[in-house]
Amino acid sequence: METTATQTGSEVVVDLGAVRDNVAAVRATVGAAEVMAVVKADAYGHGALPAARAALDGGATSLGVATVAEALALRAGGIEAPVLAWLLIPGDDLTVAVAADVELSVAAPWSLAAVVAAARALGRPARVHLELDTGMSRGGVADPDRPAMLAELSRAVAEGAVRLVGTWAHLASSDVPADPANARQLAAFADAVVELRGAGLDPGRLHHANSAAALLLPGSRFDLVRVGLACWGLSPAPQLATSTELGLRPAMTLRSRLAHVRRVPAGTGVSYGLTWSTPRATTLGLVPLGYGDGIPRHASRPSPAGTAGGSVLVAGARRPVTGRICMDQFVVDLGGEEPEVGSEVVVFGDGHDGAPTAQDWAEAAGTISYEIVTRIAGPRVPRRHR
Ligand code: PLP
Repeated sequence: METTATQTGSEVVVDLGAVRDNVAAVRATVGAAEVMAVVKADAYGHGALPAARAALDGGATSLGVATVAEALALRAGGIEAPVLAWLLIPGDDLTVAVAADVELSVAAPWSLAAVVAAARALGRPARVHLELDTGMSRGGVADPDRPAMLAELSRAVAEGAVRLVGTWAHLASSDVPADPANARQLAAFADAVVELRGAGLDPGRLHHANSAAALLLPGSRFDLVRVGLACWGLSPAPQLATSTELGLRPAMTLRSRLAHVRRVPAGTGVSYGLTWSTPRATTLGLVPLGYGDGIPRHASRPSPAGTAGGSVLVAGARRPVTGRICMDQFVVDLGGEEPEVGSEVVVFGDGHDGAPTAQDWAEAAGTISYEIVTRIAGPRVPRRHR
């Protein structure tokens, strides 16, 4: 039988008004810098197309994704705003990307050569952003490779195969704004831009900041900030500022329903391994979600990661996860209350009603909120936008 929303009892609800407001809040903070909304990985689980439209409505002027396939999916969905794809993969059909006016990041001679070949095939210039490695050692052109890359790029620009519309890099430690590594990266970026200009290249728009840097490191904003997490209302530096303190509101709510409720005596072992026993007579509730739906197993109680373990909101009260989170289900301690089977469970939301947030689940599982929202997906958890 086909699984439907009603049958799973669980759903993700994405508040697009929150996305609009969050982007507007970021815009108000970053002053003259433009906002590129980062909608890779299905907008961190929020639904790439509706989230992209909401972000554009909120004042973002462009969209950023990792892969060319993600960029083309936005075009296929009718998005006409500028889109940058920054993770070119050997074998990508760049002719289709250039024809669809997708801006492409070049980070090595091979990707530049592939973009030039696509532009020549089409007889029209490709719009490119040059990625520099200013110290993160992930992607981008490293210092020793820069002279050769700039020479190649100059030739491609002179030939008319590419237009350099942006130069960018990524910070390794933006969630710790005071980390001296940030200042080192920004200084390296400034030096590299001087070198570009010295080589006769106009670097186009400069961008180095993600959410944390855009909000907390003003010197990183340049012409454009690439903002993902903050669009979805989550704090990129929760140890420094909550989302509320940053003027943001979490957009994603994950809800379910109690599938089973029962009284148990003290000393009842719960779930795989019986790693947790009821300290007193209580009521246990079964939530029909598990790690197969993206609920992190490390949020079990006790947690294999040594973290606190997750909790949910049932009938206005926080209820802790008990025992191990399974693939499809987990158990919560209802503390002696006996809500009906079918009662609503808020796994996480915007926090206004006392429900945990995705950030709370991240802390409960020893991870980051990015991972929590990005992983909630799949046919058993239908997503609705409002
Ligand atoms: N820029 C790049 C290159 C990224 O990979 C990402 C996401 O990881 C972002 C910007 C957006 O980061 P954040 O979600 O922290 O704003």
